[in-house]
Amino acid sequence: MTQSRKLFQRAASKIPGGVNSPVRAWKAVGGTPLFISRGQGSYIFDAEGRRYIDFVGSWGPLILGHAHPKIVEVVRQRAASGVTFGAPTMFEIELAETVERLVPSIEKLRLVSSGTEATMSAIRLARAYTGRTKIVKFDGCYHGHSDGLLVKAGSGVATLGLPDSPGVPAGFARETLTSKYNDLKLLQKIFDRHGKDIAAVIIEPICGNMGVIQPELGFLSAIREITQKSNSLLIFDEVITGFRVALGGAQELFRVKPDLTCLGKILGGGLPLAAFGGRSEIMTLLAPVGPVYQAGTLSGNPLAVAAGIATLKLLRGRRVYDELEAKGDQLEEGLATVLKRRRIPATINRVGSMMTLFFGVDRVTDPDDARKCDQKQFGRFFHGMLKRGIYLPPSPFEAMFISLAHSSADLEKTIDAFDQWAKSQHSVDR
Ligand SMILES: *Cc1c(COP(=O)(O)O)cnc(C)c1O
Repeated sequence: MTQSRKLFQRAASKIPGGVNSPVRAWKAVGGTPLFISRGQGSYIFDAEGRRYIDFVGSWGPLILGHAHPKIVEVVRQRAASGVTFGAPTMFEIELAETVERLVPSIEKLRLVSSGTEATMSAIRLARAYTGRTKIVKFDGCYHGHSDGLLVKAGSGVATLGLPDSPGVPAGFARETLTSKYNDLKLLQKIFDRHGKDIAAVIIEPICGNMGVIQPELGFLSAIREITQKSNSLLIFDEVITGFRVALGGAQELFRVKPDLTCLGKILGGGLPLAAFGGRSEIMTLLAPVGPVYQAGTLSGNPLAVAAGIATLKLLRGRRVYDELEAKGDQLEEGLATVLKRRRIPATINRVGSMMTLFFGVDRVTDPDDARKCDQKQFGRFFHGMLKRGIYLPPSPFEAMFISLAHSSADLEKTIDAFDQWAKSQHSVDR
């Protein structure tokens, strides 16, 4: 029995499903999840000491790769001076000033500890600001696991094929209206009917939780117009895309300015940190200035903030996003060539360093297309790659992430592994 298997059995007796977040359990692809002992650069090592090229990157935060020396150094330094105070520190100002410079729609922001908290609080704020109760989300977008947002959610909810979660009161769910990604007509219809009651539209400006799905040309700016017309707020959930697709996130890429933005993942450089921010007049409704309550014992935690500041500093280096684009392009081209050579029908969606391979479909522009992909084939792909030393997200509905630590040779190795797997599939078919 492998070490991972032993550990998984032990874990399962004390932790539901053996994991502290559902997708980690590999339900969608089968098999026993690897227990990870350490990471270095683009690599992770399992409990057996086997090495893998990692394309999960802790689900997005690790844009610099594992154990980047600068991050290790600042976290070590900070830890030696005390890990938390529950009082304001200078470092929080530095991070806030940096984020506000990089993401111009954010005039003021508040730090929290998870993306779930960020979106939940942004919505509370939007409701308080507008005096309305309804929100609109998009089928397949994931905004964390707070009650009102667990309606038609992507990520683990989609991976496990769960209906909207039990435990969410129907009354809460009723306040959440669902629209369809890249379908403006439906959104307009929802606004025609409920516009006066809609506090906010929340959206992943590039969907990353149904696999990667890009917004069609004009989709986001049209949402901006529709929300403005009805005095509803627009919330961009950039927990994945913030600092991933550009320093200023997807809003910089598509030149659309939301009222509120949620950040997380990369923001904390791999430590628990997230934020929500936006227009000053909205943000100042928050306690202690205004009446909207929001708080956190570990909010703005010095370790996480130090890792965040150091990460953003490294990302401000010149040509970082060109480099990520070049790596993404190399991998996409390589995989696409193999697909063609081995005559495997599939489509690849990619924005910069985030991408998804959907098997058995030739176009994925909304979550319904994504759901039609060949999930069994994905499972074979996942395990075939794993066997060859490549660690991918264990679900067809997640993005794989490339980091600055992935070398060109890592990507070539990944493409080679894919070709070998594809070849083996071919002989199975015959
Ligand atoms: C990961 C994610 C969240 C939730 O963040 P957590 O830190 O896991 O709570 C919210 N929105 C999006 C778009 C995400 O990808």
